[in-house]
Amino acid sequence: MFVHSIECEELQKEWDTKYPNHCKKCNGAGGFVYPGTYWEPPDYDECSECVGQMKCPLCGADIPEDWDFDTEVLPCGHKYDNPEAPSCICEGLPVCQECRHLMEWDKTWANGEYELDIFKCPNCGNETS
Ligand SMILES: [Zn+2]
Ligand SMILES: [Zn+2]
Ligand SMILES: [Zn+2]
Ligand SMILES: [Zn+2]
Repeated sequence: MFVHSIECEELQKEWDTKYPNHCKKCNGAGGFVYPGTYWEPPDYDECSECVGQMKCPLCGADIPEDWDFDTEVLPCGHKYDNPEAPSCICEGLPVCQECRHLMEWDKTWANGEYELDIFKCPNCGNETS
């Protein structure tokens, strides 16, 4: 199982406190963006748990059947296309095995033929490559 860093969890906690009733499936985003590949164009799927059932992704309020989503602002005042939802910030950087803080890129060591990227934990000083 992937363990998220403390920094990542805090962002998520803030979000949970701000919108306690947000949709757990899409994290309040209202849908899922697929970046696409060389062969396929980017795609977007609306979330089946909230917008798909005419519920606000952020607070769960009912959306009228004939709602025009192009106007973006929902009857409850939230935006359907919500850019603030936190995404995981642990990707691309290692998480400290000791204290679960996000590590920072520290230096590159040339080790024989290999260049090793060294990361350092700002909290406990643990190093990893
Ligand atoms: Zn949803
Ligand atoms: Zn709402
Ligand atoms: Zn994370
Ligand atoms: Zn640490």
